[in-house]
Amino acid sequence: MIIDQNKINEAVSTIIGYGGDHILNCVQCGACSAVCPGVRAGFPLLCRNLIRYLLNGQLEEIIEDSSSWGCQACNRCTEICPQGVRPQEVVFAFRRYQANQLAFSTSSITSQMNLFETGHAVYTDPREARKKVGLPEETPTSAFDDAAKKEIQTLINNSPMGELGLF
Ligand code: SF4
Ligand code: SF4
Repeated sequence: MIIDQNKINEAVSTIIGYGGDHILNCVQCGACSAVCPGVRAGFPLLCRNLIRYLLNGQLEEIIEDSSSWGCQACNRCTEICPQGVRPQEVVFAFRRYQANQLAFSTSSITSQMNLFETGHAVYTDPREARKKVGLPEETPTSAFDDAAKKEIQTLINNSPMGELGLF
């Protein structure tokens, strides 16, 4: 592979700009990938592999990859990394970059719709289960708070996501 220092600089500064501050500390040991449930579930570009592509300057080449949407934000990678890279932050930085370029994975559309409609990216109606165990049916969250929902929708509508015309 031909090394293009300009592309490397651009990729690293983009990821740092979106919050992946410690990407340059990575020594590619692979500990993060070994504990990542997303990697185990078959998303190839999380943790070490994602960082390798970015450190090689291949930011644009992987913009359409859907792996970043498979991150569960469990932070197992953050706990195990010996270099303080905080790989989850690199994954989220890459995801922010993708979102700002409107490079959404189709697998993420349902979670975007849930977020807009309820304030939760992952949402199932909790009322029946809560009723069964004697809890108030409605959760004290944005899902049942119209003012909070409206604020979330205003933020989404004024972000690059709003330009997608999904909502
Ligand atoms: S554990 Fe840390 S140093 Fe090792 S590959 Fe992952 S991010 Fe890089
Ligand atoms: S936070 Fe994301 S990238 Fe890190 S181990 Fe969990 S699923 Fe994998």
